[in-house]
Amino acid sequence: MDPILAFCQSQQAGIVDLIRRLVECESPSDDAQAVNRFVDLLAEVLAPLGTVRTFPGGRFGKHLQCEFQLPGGKKTGRVLVLGHSDTVWPLGTLAQMPFREADGRLWGPGVLDMKAGIAFLVYACCALRELDIRVPSKVLLQLNSDEEVGSESSRQLTEKTARKSKVVLVLEPGTGLTGKLKTARKGVGDYTVTVRGKAAHAGVDFSAGASAIVELARQITRIAGFTNLDRGLTVNPGLISGGTRTNVVASEAAAQVDIRVARLRDAAPLDRKFRSLRPFDRHCSIEVSGGLNRPPMERSAGGVRLFRLARRLGRELGIEVEESSTGGGSDGNLTAALGIPTLDGLGAVGEGAHAPQESILIDRIADRTALIAKLLAAM
Ligand SMILES: [Zn+2]
Repeated sequence: MDPILAFCQSQQAGIVDLIRRLVECESPSDDAQAVNRFVDLLAEVLAPLGTVRTFPGGRFGKHLQCEFQLPGGKKTGRVLVLGHSDTVWPLGTLAQMPFREADGRLWGPGVLDMKAGIAFLVYACCALRELDIRVPSKVLLQLNSDEEVGSESSRQLTEKTARKSKVVLVLEPGTGLTGKLKTARKGVGDYTVTVRGKAAHAGVDFSAGASAIVELARQITRIAGFTNLDRGLTVNPGLISGGTRTNVVASEAAAQVDIRVARLRDAAPLDRKFRSLRPFDRHCSIEVSGGLNRPPMERSAGGVRLFRLARRLGRELGIEVEESSTGGGSDGNLTAALGIPTLDGLGAVGEGAHAPQESILIDRIADRTALIAKLLAAM
């Protein structure tokens, strides 16, 4: 058997225990104190393995970097391993959704997205150190505290670090119950479309009013028509608000719209469509704000090369690693958009990210950890 895989299997209980500790330290994006507690816990775990630094995250928790001390003499270039410490789960979720081991899985808030992936990297580095396997490049882990809410405070640091790295590996979960790796992700953005009309008494003065709600409803059908499935472009008016009471002609209404683009070159024309929305009713006005937040991670030659390497290394572990693309964004979108070869989805295999059934497969812990270790040794 592959010695790295054998080591990872022998460490399975330790990996599960670390995942439990990480899951039981809740870290919702909007609670900086909680995220900082998680970062402190991880800094303690990482301290024997490398040099840890943290960076202020503004209104979010701090971001963490760890440069690992790994076997082998002089290193050439750097591999950036990217992850996030925050989860979508509010503090106290553990009471209803405790960490547990059942049906061949580990369950709990953030276990799949992405606390298990972090634990895998820790043990991958342990394996390389214990087995004294030469790692040719520097390995830097960066964990952002605000990935689940758009990475506003970490983006600059991610881009700066990525520019000085030759490749990026992302610890987000794999796709589906076979854990496919990700070489493409859609770009993500959002728009707010606000309509202002004219308030009036719905009974006494109806004709004097201009309904922002009626106008917005017409705009929404127009906006929904921007979707172009053949190009992987979707536009989703996901949230609407407006009006004050039923007997008042509404003076204001707004829609929040999620957009996804598979290709960067579709973003500007779509933006122009939003910006050129004009009211049907001349007594109403329209204001548009927002835009693309994360550029798409387009399938690139560099990303595919990384995938093929992972597939070859996976076969040495007896695993057939597959490739996938997804509509969801990650910080890998930012690094790929800079032209840095990025391979995403190297974290846990499971299902139910952001959902109550969030869980990972226990029998895929060892081989995923080993795959990360083998990638680091091969780059
Ligand atoms: Zn994630």
